[in-house]
Amino acid sequence: MTARILVVDDIPANVKLLEARLMAEYFDVLTAADGMTALSICDQTHVDLILLDIMMPGIDGFEVCERLKKNPKTAHIPVVMVTALDQPADRVRGLKAGADDFLTKPVNDLQLMTRVKSLIRFKALSDELRVRAESARDLDTSALLAPHDGTLDEPGLVLLVEGRANAQERMNRALKDVAMTTVIGDPQAALFEAAEKPYELIVVSSALEDYDPLRLCSQLRSLERTRFIPVLMVAEQGEEDLVIRALELGVNDYLVRPLDPNELVARSITQIRRKRYADCLRSSLTRSVEFAVTDALTGLNNRRYLDTHLNTLVERSGKRGRPLSVLITDIDHFKTINDVHGHEGGDDILREFARRVRGAVRGADLACRYGGEEFVVVMPDTTLEIASQVAERLRDAVAAAPFKVSATGARAQVTTSVGVAMLEADDQDGASLLRRADQALYQAKTDGRNRVVGEAA
Ligand code: GH3
Ligand code: MG
Ligand code: MG
Repeated sequence: MTARILVVDDIPANVKLLEARLMAEYFDVLTAADGMTALSICDQTHVDLILLDIMMPGIDGFEVCERLKKNPKTAHIPVVMVTALDQPADRVRGLKAGADDFLTKPVNDLQLMTRVKSLIRFKALSDELRVRAESARDLDTSALLAPHDGTLDEPGLVLLVEGRANAQERMNRALKDVAMTTVIGDPQAALFEAAEKPYELIVVSSALEDYDPLRLCSQLRSLERTRFIPVLMVAEQGEEDLVIRALELGVNDYLVRPLDPNELVARSITQIRRKRYADCLRSSLTRSVEFAVTDALTGLNNRRYLDTHLNTLVERSGKRGRPLSVLITDIDHFKTINDVHGHEGGDDILREFARRVRGAVRGADLACRYGGEEFVVVMPDTTLEIASQVAERLRDAVAAAPFKVSATGARAQVTTSVGVAMLEADDQDGASLLRRADQALYQAKTDGRNRVVGEAA
């Protein structure tokens, strides 16, 4: 995992120290001694992560962070604020300015690597999701452009796995303003609970009676329903080895006792916010993938989908020596329908037409909206004779009953013409098969419409 990290600090010794540690882990390091230089570096070159000091002459770290997060070009670069240990209020201010995480000076090595690696991993994942989502069309990009919204609007749903009453009480109190917390002492029960509700963070204490906390962490990571929930481990002083193993298992972050309530709150907010952003990216990606292959008006697959899948079906049928047929259907005089019922009325008819197409074919058939009022059905394992019967059934389903135009309440008599063709040995690909079906459709139109024509054998 290599990445380019920008270290910003006005004290050269601090810069040197962080630079040396990061370079030892083979990160590519850039440095800046003040805020304006940092901003211009981010504007001009690719940066994966910023370690940002707060107290600097000129513009301070908070302002640098705010400006970075406001600029769409740099808003996605994770920012880690480096704060002084005795300034807990800085962390809250930093998170408000849009910082993704923070480190306290003097910077501890394990903490540095934990934050840096987890943020770089998160950035790589979200960059990829975002690029894939953006490259598909028609999606709500506003959600993707605002990963950091400064505050946590809704309290997070947090599961606290801690057996000791006084520790439970302390953590509960610290989190009360930012989370709705469920506390469970028994780790096995906690695992079931975690899978039950949409938790956004699980805080696991390392001091579980008669139970290995690492086992719980690994179970949480392997269960389908819990693997995307961030886990924050609360360890005892001196448990560095345990923490390292927990991080290797996929635990997202850790805290060491004695607990600083501000730090617990800040770390929890960071994890919950990151999870919400990742969830949002994941669901918009799913949506955009659906958009990319589905026709928005009818819900049938679109032409793009047909173009990519038809050849696969053609190849499969060739290999297995099974028949494959297609039909193309085009609504008759649709221009007139639009003229009479309006464009919206025309859309109603297209939707109803798609329903009738779906009703006339099998589940294994691939039904697509090919263009305006043209639809294609690909029928695997189907001979020309059977495909012609399907086409006739479809033609009849359209002509048999008038279409209701919900835009106006009117009724419309609709007919459709259908061309059918079957895959031949000398068909190179799906395109030649479609071409023959199209010729048959043309024949059906010239023969007087509202009819099925199978290609000449
Ligand atoms: P034919 O019987 O020869 O097929 O005549 P036609 O009028 O159906 O022929 P043509 O293909 O020329 O016209 C199709 C019309 O379909 C033209 C276009 O305005 C309309 N159309 C295409 N897409 C849509 C759509 O999404 N909604 C609506 N309402 N109309 C559409
Ligand atoms: Mg038409
Ligand atoms: Mg047409």
